Amino acid sequence: MKIVIKNAIIVTMNQNNDIINNGQVEIDNNTITYVGNNREVKGEIIDAQGNIIMPGFVNTHCHLAMTLFRGYGENSNFKNWWLDYMRPLEEKLEVGDCYYGATLGILELIKNGVTTVADFYLHYDETARAVVDTGIRANIGIGAITGREVLSEDFLNNELNKISLCHRIKPILYAHSLYSCDESQFLELNKFAQKYNLIKSTHASETLMEVGTIYNKYNKTPIALLESYGFFDSPCILAHCVHCDKEDIEIMKQYDISVATNPSSNLILGSGIAPLYSFIKNNINVSIGTDGAASNNNLNMFKEMYLADNLQAGVLNQAQAVTTIDALKMATIRGAIALGYNNLGRIDNGFLADIIMIDVHRPNMQPINNVFNNLVNACESNNVVMTMIDGKIVYRNDKFYCNVDYNNIVNHCNKIIERIDTKNI
Ligand SMILES: [Zn+2]
Repeated sequence: MKIVIKNAIIVTMNQNNDIINNGQVEIDNNTITYVGNNREVKGEIIDAQGNIIMPGFVNTHCHLAMTLFRGYGENSNFKNWWLDYMRPLEEKLEVGDCYYGATLGILELIKNGVTTVADFYLHYDETARAVVDTGIRANIGIGAITGREVLSEDFLNNELNKISLCHRIKPILYAHSLYSCDESQFLELNKFAQKYNLIKSTHASETLMEVGTIYNKYNKTPIALLESYGFFDSPCILAHCVHCDKEDIEIMKQYDISVATNPSSNLILGSGIAPLYSFIKNNINVSIGTDGAASNNNLNMFKEMYLADNLQAGVLNQAQAVTTIDALKMATIRGAIALGYNNLGRIDNGFLADIIMIDVHRPNMQPINNVFNNLVNACESNNVVMTMIDGKIVYRNDKFYCNVDYNNIVNHCNKIIERIDTKNI
C-alpha cells in the first residue's frame, strides 16, 4: 500500500535546494512518487506534525565491525593506533564476531538517520548478513582488505558472490592503502572495475607520515602514485585526503574522483584537517564518512557535517568557506553520487524512498530561522525520530523494526570483547 507522509517541512536537497512547507511525500514500494503540497490521497498516512522530512544520510566511508573497538586505543596517533591497538585486536577476531560488530554499527547508523553506508572491513560476508537483517542500504568493499590478499578475477568474482545477498547491497572494490598494498593489487582492481563497471576506493593521504613514507619510496605523493597506477581511470572514492597539495588537487580535478572526508577521525587520531574548501572550489565531489567507531567514536553524520563546515571556517578565517547547504549536500546527494547512484540522496519523484524525519519541536531546533543552519549547527542525532529505507520504516520513536534484537546484539558484542580481553593486550 502507498505510504503518505503529510504535514512536513520537506528539505528536498534538489538542485534548487527547495523547501516545501505543509508538504507531502508519497511512496509506492521503494520509490518516491509524489513530492508537493498536502493533498487528499488514500494510503497509510503518517502525520509528520510539522517535522522535517529529508533524505537519509549517505556515509561513504565506514568500518562497521570496528564498532566492537569503540573507545580503545584513545590518545594515539594514527600509526600507533593502527599497529599497536587495532591490528592485535583484529588478529583475535573469530568467525562470526564481525556480524555482531557490524550489526551494532548499523543499528547506531539507522538511529542516527544514516540510510546508506559504504563499508570496508574484514569478513565482509558477515557484514552483508548484517545488512540483510537490519534493512540498511550498503556498498560493501571487497578486495585487498588487509593488503595480504592475492587478487585475481576468480578471487574477486568469488568474493562478489559472498556479499550479493540482496538488492540493497552493491559491491565496491577496495585496496586498503598504498602503504599496505602493492601495485599489482591496484592494477587487478582497475581491470575488474572496468570490466564490471564498479567503483573503487582506498585510503589516501590520511597522515603526514603516509605522505612522507610514499614520497621517500616512490618520489611521488600518494595521489600522484595512484594516478600513475591508473587508479583514477574509472570512478573512485578516496578516503581522507587530509594532506593534498595544489599539485594533488590539479590531478584530482581531472578525474571522476570523490573524496570521503572523515573530520572527527582525523581530529581524534591527530591526522589533520582536509582542505575541503579547495576541493569544492575545484569542483571535486566531496562526500562524508564517519570512519569506524574505533576512531570517531560514534557513527554520527550530524557531528561530521558540523565539523566539515566549521573547521574550514576556523582554519581559513572565513565563515562562508563551506556553507551549511554544502555540508548537507556532502552528507546526502554528493554521497549518493560518489557511490554511483543517480536516484538516491534527494526527496524527488523517482528517487529511492530513503527518508528520515527530524523532530523540530525540541528546544534545540526552535525557532527555525533557517532550516539548513538548524540541521547542521543545531540538530542532534537524537532529533531523528523516523528512518525509512527502501520504502520500509526500520526505526521510529526509539524502536527498531529489523530482524535483529538490539539487546541480543549488545550482549554478543560484550562477550566478544570479554573473550578478546582488551585490557590485557
Ligand atoms: Zn578508514
